[in-house]
Amino acid sequence: MKIHEYQSREIFSSAGIPVPQGRVATTAIEARAIATEIGGTVVIKAQVHVGGRGKAGGVKLARTPAEAEQHATKILGMSIRGLTVRRILVAEAVQIASEAYVGVVVDRALRRPVLIVSAAGGVEIEDVAKRSPEKIVKLPLDPLLSFQPFQARRIAYAIYDTPEVIHQTSDLIARLVNLFWEQDCTLVEINPLVVTPDDRVIAVDAKINFDDNALWRHPDWETLRDPDSELDSEVDARANDLSFVKLEGTIGCVVNGAGLAMATMDLVKRYGAEPANFLDIGGSSNPRKVIAAMRIILKDHSVRAILFNIFGGITRCDDVARGILQAIKELKPTVPIVVRLTGTNEREARRILEDIHLPVAASMDAVVRQAIELAVKAA
Ligand code: GDP
Ligand code: MN
Repeated sequence: MKIHEYQSREIFSSAGIPVPQGRVATTAIEARAIATEIGGTVVIKAQVHVGGRGKAGGVKLARTPAEAEQHATKILGMSIRGLTVRRILVAEAVQIASEAYVGVVVDRALRRPVLIVSAAGGVEIEDVAKRSPEKIVKLPLDPLLSFQPFQARRIAYAIYDTPEVIHQTSDLIARLVNLFWEQDCTLVEINPLVVTPDDRVIAVDAKINFDDNALWRHPDWETLRDPDSELDSEVDARANDLSFVKLEGTIGCVVNGAGLAMATMDLVKRYGAEPANFLDIGGSSNPRKVIAAMRIILKDHSVRAILFNIFGGITRCDDVARGILQAIKELKPTVPIVVRLTGTNEREARRILEDIHLPVAASMDAVVRQAIELAVKAA
């Protein structure tokens, strides 16, 4: 789950990481008022869930409240990489002597979070990694041993050389790493980490991604969610307790269990097509969930066929079949539907589906091929 910079910087601030003062606004008038309150030069920043806002014209300095209002007018409503700007951050502008990068990301190859720093901050770190990998310093974090002050100092020495700056930076890095663990993050990032001409170290940008799997122990995250920044289908799926990820292909998939869903998607790819989504209806087989799943998939106009792959254990095949029956009645889909189900109450399920001329495929392999054939015909 992604949150906005204005939210991340508040969390940074509570964790003792210095950020410039500032507030979020949704109108240019509000931006002007905040700029007046802060006084001096401010920076107006688009709040959207993508990086590279600076390059896209979504970050502007304003010397007066009037200028703040002008920039705010331009930035609000602007589209940055397909996302419309509805909120802006108005913050005290910081004088920059140098820009560095500090972040903690999950390294899947190492199967650990890794602390990454670079003296070449401000620009996209991926570019630095490609062009001058020697400018990046990495430290894998041990999930069992706590982060040690000497590690923070060593990393700070890698990017700075003034004692006063190193002192502040090691403290900041230790706080950032602790925040990463305590808040169940998948990413925390400061780019740029700024040193001012008078040697203060300040986080001028703030980025946090939370681990969705830890949602249950952070009920407060719900208030940080920005519905504008999520796909309608994903919001609908969450409300119906479905695990859903939209993908770019043409084969809609309704599966029970994440493992079976992954295997189904693998098979779709193996036979030369692309899945339109990952969707796990979960363990229970409430027919309402099946209907919600179909509704969500049918809204995606690239879908050319819908494939059900159900392994009945706790999930009862007949409940799923009833869901399919009801969904067809309610939603009147025009794309072909193919079904493979096996396990608990399979026989009843087959009977229900045969009544509506929906034969159950003999195997997972067969159903995937069928779905792809029909999708090609429909295209
Ligand atoms: P991003 O492009 O989405 O990562 O947005 P950032 O918040 O990182 O801002 C992009 C760039 O704008 C930074 O690297 C800075 O060079 C500049 N910038 C942002 N805030 C300030 C500020 O307070 N003062 C100054 N002088 N420049 C700023
Ligand atoms: Mn940035």
